[in-house]
Amino acid sequence: MTTTQHEFQAETKKLLDIVINSLYTERDVFIRELISNSADALEKMRHESLTREDVFDAHVPLEIDISLDEKAHTFTITDTGIGMSRVELESNLGTIAHSGSNTFLLELAEAAKKDINLIGQFGVGFYAAFMAGAKVRVQSRSWDGSEGHEWESDGSGTFTITEKEGLHRGTRIIVELKEDAHEYAQKWRVESIIKQYSAFVSFPIKLEGEVVNTVQALWMRNKAEIKEEEYTEFYKFIANAFDEPTYRLHFSADAPLAINALLFVPKENFEIMGFGRVDPGVNLYCQRILIDQHSENILPEWLRFLKGVVDSEDLPLNISRQALQDNALVSKLRKVITKRFLKYMDEEAKKDPEKYLEFWNTFGIYFKEGATSDYEFQKELSRLIRFESSKSEAGKPIGLAEYLARMNPDQEEIYYINGPSRTAIESGPYVEMFTKNDIEILYTMEPIDDFVLSHLGEFEGKKLVSADRADLSLPKGTEADAEEKPEDEASLDKEQKESLLSWLKKALEDKVADVIVSRRLVDSPAMIVNPDGHMSSSMERVIAMSRREKGVPEEKSKKNLEINPANPLIRRLAALIKEDEDFAREVAGQIYDNAMIQAGLYVNHLEMVERNYRILGRVTKA
Ligand code: ADP
Repeated sequence: MTTTQHEFQAETKKLLDIVINSLYTERDVFIRELISNSADALEKMRHESLTREDVFDAHVPLEIDISLDEKAHTFTITDTGIGMSRVELESNLGTIAHSGSNTFLLELAEAAKKDINLIGQFGVGFYAAFMAGAKVRVQSRSWDGSEGHEWESDGSGTFTITEKEGLHRGTRIIVELKEDAHEYAQKWRVESIIKQYSAFVSFPIKLEGEVVNTVQALWMRNKAEIKEEEYTEFYKFIANAFDEPTYRLHFSADAPLAINALLFVPKENFEIMGFGRVDPGVNLYCQRILIDQHSENILPEWLRFLKGVVDSEDLPLNISRQALQDNALVSKLRKVITKRFLKYMDEEAKKDPEKYLEFWNTFGIYFKEGATSDYEFQKELSRLIRFESSKSEAGKPIGLAEYLARMNPDQEEIYYINGPSRTAIESGPYVEMFTKNDIEILYTMEPIDDFVLSHLGEFEGKKLVSADRADLSLPKGTEADAEEKPEDEASLDKEQKESLLSWLKKALEDKVADVIVSRRLVDSPAMIVNPDGHMSSSMERVIAMSRREKGVPEEKSKKNLEINPANPLIRRLAALIKEDEDFAREVAGQIYDNAMIQAGLYVNHLEMVERNYRILGRVTKA
């Protein structure tokens, strides 16, 4: 038998030095790396055997076998893949195969300097065996049937290669475990590592004779051949869930990126049930091997409720979690998959609106979060959000597309108004004009809603506008209508209106920016509108609340007060100014406060209650 001795290539030496001396956290990954190499070798064998007939050991089944020896402290992995010839052993296991290995080494060395924990996240391929092994032996025989060999090294600079008789096709790696790594000869320990990282490898992995990877990588299979129950079972497995998924998207793409994805929407939302923020539920795989569990990078944060798998063979297995974060390929994948999922949801919503509403009630909050935080997907999200409206049934929100479809042809904008409930909104002043003119208006009833619509800005070219804006542009006919309404007898004439306005401006000087005659009020005496078009009253309320919570001083912007001269109270007020100006001032103050309350804005309660008692005192006086 001839034994030859070889030096590791300089780069490999550096890598081995890091692996041996610094990598002792997250050592588990050495098992993943060896299984992955075996799976690759088996995949190549399967491929070859399709076209070749002269395969050595052709009858041997394609599989991985792991055996442990607790007494001898060894971990042994055997595969029946393509194996390696002498030349291959020498070059494959003596140099670094990674393209760009130098940058990889630099990165690894950097990470090792900064934080020892970081480097455990780097895949280091075959050399990971030295994380746990004091000595590693590789016995291999190529599929061409040439002589078998044994490669051996303790990782310190040199390795030997010796001819070895009696080997079958494939590779056996015997890891003689270090003193502090004896745990890797324990069955339960190894089993749990295989289940975590390699549960979906497409060849049987036997551990001490028993197959441990019983779940198939469903996402790699043809959709047409998968049964409904298989999907459900898989969902329960991968999401660790007990419920059944409500939606499922299984898709594959080859260009521009190779993607196999299987995504599930769960039935329950544990986050809104008070269990705290959920972790992302989609795992990232490369060729069935886990590279990032609960990946924070593969989907945007607001899709954290999804469960499932994304597999892309374009991703390098040796990528660190750190590197995933700003990897251009990963962000491309994220974009493609997110768009695909949102498109799928839009199609599903059209197919079965009832079902979508159920989803919306449970998970809609995430789409709202996306709309306020992620510009990239606004267009898609704007098709998926739902609100109740003046033309929807209570509890049956509609989409913007539906609004658009029945909008008056001359209507330029999409209107919305915020309020605590449907009843509150409908009894408030803002919807009067809309109801009267049969214009649909959306009801936004959650604090986040106005932020969502203001972030979106528009839908299919129509601006989204809060109805409490001062400069609301109304469809033709409606404005003019109010302006040119023949003054009925009871209403105030032009002069009376003007003097009432200037008196009110003076009386409410500290509180309002302006007082104007409303062109939109029908019944109510007055309402508050916002001169700053970007901020609805609801948004201002939310911001004020968070300021108060944080103890930051409030910034109150002054509003406009619109009054309705056709309203009896306003008419009385005009007369009252002349009869009892002090009392008129009290009434004006109360009208202002009432309008503020209807706008959902903060008023000084103490002051208001006192004033209210004064007014009551006077009207109940005999
Ligand atoms: P990588 O897998 O990223 O190429 P490794 O350092 O893990 O890098 O392995 C180097 C090479 O050694 C592989 O590309 C492969 O050609 C060969 N190799 C490793 N393990 C096996 C195996 N079990 N069977 C056959 N060839 C292997």
